[in-house]
Amino acid sequence: MADVFDSEKRSEIMGCVRSNNNKSTELKLIEVFKRYGITGWRRHYRVIGHPDFVFPNKKTAVFVDGCFWHGHDCRNTRPKDNHAYWEKKRQRNIDHDKQINERFAQRGWIVIRIWECELKKKNRQILERKISCLLENA
Ligand SMILES: [Zn+2]
Repeated sequence: MADVFDSEKRSEIMGCVRSNNNKSTELKLIEVFKRYGITGWRRHYRVIGHPDFVFPNKKTAVFVDGCFWHGHDCRNTRPKDNHAYWEKKRQRNIDHDKQINERFAQRGWIVIRIWECELKKKNRQILERKISCLLENA
């Protein structure tokens, strides 16, 4: 798809997408939790890495990662302008995610990372598989 925005406008839009997206993806996941009868989650739990959801009783942290920002290899947008800039930013997020995963693992926590695109209906099976460990002891 042609990029109709100049790079400045683009970064403005991206900034917008980022914050709004986060909220709606979290809400979508809450709907999923409810549908499957998953309980015990906390939001805004004060723990390193700021997971989107924490299940303190299950020692499980759930992150919802934006595909673009966290480098998911799916069909989500990849701007052609400023490619190096985005790539660098993304790589930083990916490295950061990895570090967070390791920190949680060291403490015996489970980390579930859900891609934004997996909240779409057609990817429901992937999502189910990912959250299955939350279902088991529910
Ligand atoms: Zn994706």
